[in-house]
Amino acid sequence: MSRSVDVLVVGAGIHGAGLAQAAAAAGHSVLVLEQSAIAAGSSSRSSKLVHGGLRYLESWQIRLVRESLHERTLMLRLAPELVRLQPFHIPVYGATRRRPWQLRVGLSMYAALAGFGPGARFSSLPRSAWAALDGLETHGLQRVFRYHDAQTDDAALTAAVLRSAQSLGAALALPARFIAADVHAQGVRVRYRLTDSAAGDEQEVRARVLLNAAGPWAAQVAGAIRPALPVPALELVQGSHLVLPAAPQAGCYYLESPRDGRAVFALPWKGKLLAGTTEVPFRGDPAAVTPSASERNYLLGVLRHYFPALRSGGQGVVEAAFAGLRVLPRGSGHAFHRSRETLLDLQLAGRALSIYGGKLTTWRAVSERALAQLAPALPARAARARTDQLPLTPP
Ligand SMILES: Cc1cc2nc3c(=O)[nH]c(=O)nc-3n(C[C@H](O)[C@H](O)[C@H](O)COP(=O)(O)OP(=O)(O)OC[C@H]3O[C@@H](n4cnc5c(N)ncnc54)[C@H](O)[C@@H]3O)c2cc1C
Repeated sequence: MSRSVDVLVVGAGIHGAGLAQAAAAAGHSVLVLEQSAIAAGSSSRSSKLVHGGLRYLESWQIRLVRESLHERTLMLRLAPELVRLQPFHIPVYGATRRRPWQLRVGLSMYAALAGFGPGARFSSLPRSAWAALDGLETHGLQRVFRYHDAQTDDAALTAAVLRSAQSLGAALALPARFIAADVHAQGVRVRYRLTDSAAGDEQEVRARVLLNAAGPWAAQVAGAIRPALPVPALELVQGSHLVLPAAPQAGCYYLESPRDGRAVFALPWKGKLLAGTTEVPFRGDPAAVTPSASERNYLLGVLRHYFPALRSGGQGVVEAAFAGLRVLPRGSGHAFHRSRETLLDLQLAGRALSIYGGKLTTWRAVSERALAQLAPALPARAARARTDQLPLTPP
């Protein structure tokens, strides 16, 4: 007889971990299948920010910004060792497209949407403070705004959420690759393979509901569910980061690419400088995503434009680079302007739900919403905990 659980989760990225935590907290039995490693996908290749997304105000994604800032406040409280406030600096030069008045309006809205809570205040730095800004180019510099957002270790946060789920009874199979699922009136029959077993041992599990949290692989997983379900029009968009030797000392920098006006971050990261990101349409095997030479040149170009010390060897040497994949709704405009809202796609009489896209920041709120959508197909159970009260700690 095959094993049986309430909730079967495919993927141990931040969304799979979050749904496992929410479902286990609600009293359900949970099994998570992960094909390679915890946070192996986008959840270890992000810009590592727990943020409202200041720039999303430009495209009026107000609901997303409000929810993200709310979650930021919660994470600062629940995971103080994993999520920390950092000062962010926005330099404004004569040629900067976003003018001081626009930034002031944006930062005021950002503070208001944060409920004027922790770190909501922003300021314009006096000229006397510019010398402490990591060698930032001061020629033509008109203004430097400082505000606050939060940084995390994305992979460590994902592992902490998964550990929290496991402490509430969720089980993890790793490495275990989802192969296919058959959905019927009573539930879902799922086949998966223990990928490290000699025979590639095939297993079966029965579940009440299936959550597809496979990130860039989510369309593939959805395509292996029967009866066949429609998959929304999606696009994978590659984002790369560079790692350079010297961490900025004054905090983080929110830079405008002089080439196309996109936002690029320069961040302190484990004693190094982390710079990103790009947005390049991607086709192919998600496991094979890797930074290209032109992305590297683009990011170096932004860094060298703002930090003259990085124009030559030494501090300007790229020590490492990595790339990840965003799942965005397909569209004609540049990916930069596309919605970053998470798409929850409930199918097959409420027994299969796919998560497409989303933010690291909103993992908990999205997981709660996903669980609420799956609830009608789940039995009533006695809750064990509330996710907005569960502390998250590093190992
Ligand atoms: C470049 C970049 C920068 C970003 N920066 C930020 C940021 O600063 N702040 C922020 O809030 N958000 C950011 N994001 C968004 C955020 O990283 C993602 O939304 C989030 O990590 C997605 O998590 P996920 O769990 O949906 O997917 P993933 O983390 O990709 O997890 C999917 C998991 O499913 C597993 N899987 C796939 N197929 C199978 C299968 N058949 N069987 C078993 N397991 C399977 C994979 O191995 C993987 O571990 C960024 C994204 C990118 C790409």
